[in-house]
Amino acid sequence: MECEICGRQMHRGERIRLEGATVTVCRDCASMGTRMGPAYEPRPVERSVKRTPDRRKPEEEIVPECASRVHLARERLGITQKELAERLNEKESVITRIETGRMVPPISLAHRLERKLEITLVAVLEEEDVGPLKSHDAPLTLGDVVKVRKRG
Ligand SMILES: [Zn+2]
Repeated sequence: MECEICGRQMHRGERIRLEGATVTVCRDCASMGTRMGPAYEPRPVERSVKRTPDRRKPEEEIVPECASRVHLARERLGITQKELAERLNEKESVITRIETGRMVPPISLAHRLERKLEITLVAVLEEEDVGPLKSHDAPLTLGDVVKVRKRG
């Protein structure tokens, strides 16, 4: 068996698609076309829509600064309350009431606002966490300290 492109003798060719034709070529020439072998299966990128239902997190709580956060984030985007309402499929009056603090949005709406405005409105109360001041950084080990120390 020989490569249909370079003519080299080979034990096992690779089938590729080249300019509309399927040819059997050696490994070196396989890169010239699109591999057809069973190993190559172009898969569409699966975008799984992950949705965690709101009800699974009963400890979720709307932050007290919700009103001002929504207000500031909306102004940053340069859109009106009406436009924001339309994007969320809500009534303009709902946005008005949320921004003025007359209404606390339900968690589901708060999550949608978070996504649209790229802000945080929902605080998750985790039992393991001791207070909001908890640092996410791992404590420095002696080795880290030595590495950080400047020389000369
Ligand atoms: Zn070849």
